[in-house]
Amino acid sequence: MTERSGGGLDQRGGSANMCAGMRAIIEDDIVQPFQIDSFELRGRLVRLGPLVDRILTRHDYPEPVAELLGEAIALAVALARALKYEGVFTLQTKGDGPVRLMVADVTTAGAVRGYAQVDEARLAQVMAAGAAAAQGAVPRLLGAGYLAMTVDQGEHTERYQGIVELQGASLVECVHHYFRQSEQVEAGLKVAVTRVPDDGGAPRWRAGCLMIERLPPEDRRQQEDAEEGWRRAMILMSSSTSRELVDPALSPEALLYRLFHEEGVRSYRKRKLEAQCRCSRGRVETMLRALDKDDVRDMTVDGKILVTCEFCSAVYAFAEDEVAALAAG
Ligand SMILES: [Zn+2]
Repeated sequence: MTERSGGGLDQRGGSANMCAGMRAIIEDDIVQPFQIDSFELRGRLVRLGPLVDRILTRHDYPEPVAELLGEAIALAVALARALKYEGVFTLQTKGDGPVRLMVADVTTAGAVRGYAQVDEARLAQVMAAGAAAAQGAVPRLLGAGYLAMTVDQGEHTERYQGIVELQGASLVECVHHYFRQSEQVEAGLKVAVTRVPDDGGAPRWRAGCLMIERLPPEDRRQQEDAEEGWRRAMILMSSSTSRELVDPALSPEALLYRLFHEEGVRSYRKRKLEAQCRCSRGRVETMLRALDKDDVRDMTVDGKILVTCEFCSAVYAFAEDEVAALAAG
């Protein structure tokens, strides 16, 4: 996105420490920010366990949809660096495929949520058409449409939105396409989502994302071999395997050390993430207040209005006269 150096999500952590491949307690649901000075880049490694399992299991999405939403969630966390102040980063897709809408958002405090709107009948058709399996998840499930990334930091700051056409086989390819078009950030990402059996043998969703981002030109030392360094960094990043990105037995530190140890990777303090919705009765009231009478009438069943949060499935019930009072107030 358009941000420059300094002040990002990962800049508020404490002191940097050299990552020496030491044994660490393996933590899930975290972002591990890091920096590689010789490559003039910074990065973020995202590891999601119970968080992504909770979101994907709660909705009981068909497998390919769960996998795609898992990717969107991991990508949103990696890309949320664009938040400079308290706020929300949202990654959203809208398309004419069976998955009409997909939203994943993350707050500065580390609250993460996501959902997908699925046309089950169309999904069944697409999955039955075996030949289409050769296509990537984006053309098959999302179809033609766009991907939007939004930085919202409250009413006193400008809302920023970057939009790009859904172009590519995977969500990562669409994000790469966005970066190439924006020409403001050079970045590379790799993402993996899969189910891994837990200690009791039950399959649990896990997701991982590795992102590297080149420092903006004004922060580089103009080394002669800078381009070569960036290319090498991209190759090293791409050499990480999907298994490594989600492996519950491989700590973030150990993975970064394995990939970049020759370059002296510095890792910063991890940031903890949680699956948490931000819906509330107050927010639903604000939404109802904005509706006109006809909309309210359409929503009323047996004198009651039920509003279900698409992210967490919480149900908010209002009596008809309560809604009338909201409108009058
Ligand atoms: Zn909710």
